[in-house]
Amino acid sequence: MADTSDDKPPAPPVRLTSARDIALPVDMKPLPREPDSEEKKKGKLKTLKNAKKDKKDSDKPEISHPTNFEHTLHVGYDEKKGEFTGMPESWTRMLLKANISKTEQKDNPQAVLDALNFISTKDKEESKYMTLGIVNDTEAPTSHEGNEVADVEVTSGATIEHKPIQPSTPEDEETEPPPPVAARPDKTKSVYTKPIEKEEVKNGSPLGLDGKDITNNNNLSTKSKKKKMTDEEIMEKLRSIVSVGDPNKKYTKIEKIGQGASGTVYTAIETGTGLEVAIKQMNLTQQPKKELIINELLVMRENKHLNIVNYLDSYLVGDELWVVMEYLAGGSLTDVVTETCMDEGQISAVCREVLQGLEFLHLNHVIHRDIKSDNILLGMDGNVKLTDFGFCAQITPEQSKRTTMVGTPYWMAPEVVTRKQYGPKVDIWSLGIMAIEMIEGEPPYLNENPLRALYLIATNGKPDIKEKDNLSPVFQDFLDKCLEVDVDKRYTASELLKHPFLKLARPLTTLQPLIVTAKDAVKSH
Ligand code: ATP
Repeated sequence: MADTSDDKPPAPPVRLTSARDIALPVDMKPLPREPDSEEKKKGKLKTLKNAKKDKKDSDKPEISHPTNFEHTLHVGYDEKKGEFTGMPESWTRMLLKANISKTEQKDNPQAVLDALNFISTKDKEESKYMTLGIVNDTEAPTSHEGNEVADVEVTSGATIEHKPIQPSTPEDEETEPPPPVAARPDKTKSVYTKPIEKEEVKNGSPLGLDGKDITNNNNLSTKSKKKKMTDEEIMEKLRSIVSVGDPNKKYTKIEKIGQGASGTVYTAIETGTGLEVAIKQMNLTQQPKKELIINELLVMRENKHLNIVNYLDSYLVGDELWVVMEYLAGGSLTDVVTETCMDEGQISAVCREVLQGLEFLHLNHVIHRDIKSDNILLGMDGNVKLTDFGFCAQITPEQSKRTTMVGTPYWMAPEVVTRKQYGPKVDIWSLGIMAIEMIEGEPPYLNENPLRALYLIATNGKPDIKEKDNLSPVFQDFLDKCLEVDVDKRYTASELLKHPFLKLARPLTTLQPLIVTAKDAVKSH
């Protein structure tokens, strides 16, 4: 029998309290912007005096400040002294706080640099888009709107590959207001950094399902940087996807059930059929990355499967995009892993369902890239479905090699953290980490400073599992196959679906009591 609230063992550590090293939320809403010269020209805040001045100014040729220049950091590692040289002060401070010992730095200076590069890029992206954040225990180096390039050299002779960071363009900063408050604990939030175009282009051909090249040509070197879609192009694309009509006539909204970074989710009833649905409402004027929304919409629309939260319809309502999808009343798997204890039969059942969804996506050349318990929704009957397709990558022969650091740090595969080219098997690593969540209540290193966590993923490879010996041998082997650092040896979704661990799966209905317990616990918090 599955655990119930009466006889359930002590709950595993709750994720929110794990973020101990992070201070309380503070309002990081940006200060009101000073009116720019454009507004002055349009007559806003105009006085007679500055009207004359405007005239004078407009006669002058306009010389803009330099933007998007590259600021190369020549960071070296002096093996004799055992320290980095040429590191910006802010990085030195981050490193001090990260609790990475001198020996660890010496063992793997590149991993330290990868982690620093990532954290500084992440901070830049987040500070731009978050209205409610955390007091960061890290500080990003200031880039003065240029691209920073950590060009790392070990002074003993070997040169470590440089990793250019490509922050958003200054235009993005001007036109993209922050999205609404996100409720998830900051450490477990998904992160998207710009692709390393140079490396994608330089290194050749795309990856297939098994992570190997799927084309023979190396013509990607001629690929030009993908043009950013204009707002009008985005609206045009959206209009071609959505249904015409007023969803208010078709659906009756019931209650708000969630708040994500991109919008608010409501339950609603389809008036004609009485069907309960979920509607995600996104204010397009507040979306920093509208392309990701189109991505999400198209992937959901085109990839229907029993283990994927099904897209039903979408509408444009004024400035808002409404996405209607099936409603999963059981909440996310995160609630279950943090509030209850799952047995191996239940973990096996969840893994099988997730793998079925992943096999389907991978066969359709889609990499999810953000598999974690937060993105698994449960039905009250125990159905298990993948959601959150905003970060998906569609592999095509033209663009399939990936280096973008996407996902959520603690769930990221080593090849993502170390910025190697990667393929669909990154989802399998993340599934392995999610299996650890189902055993221990949280992913490895969640209590570590994020910088150190990235260093540990890059350096340790397969994480240690506490009390691994208490797990059945087939489960241990299943975890080993997911958390294999060597991508060629890591199993595919199809291979894992044949793994003997999945024979332990109990019926999905055994998840029901866990869902009820988790819901009660979440309500009482
Ligand atoms: P974003 O995708 O905007 O970054 P997010 O992943 O945090 O944000 P959303 O997808 O917006 O979250 O969902 C917000 C909340 O609503 C989630 O906590 C999720 O549990 C709930 N939710 C989303 N879709 C559904 C659904 N189809 N059925 C039930 N609950 C849902």
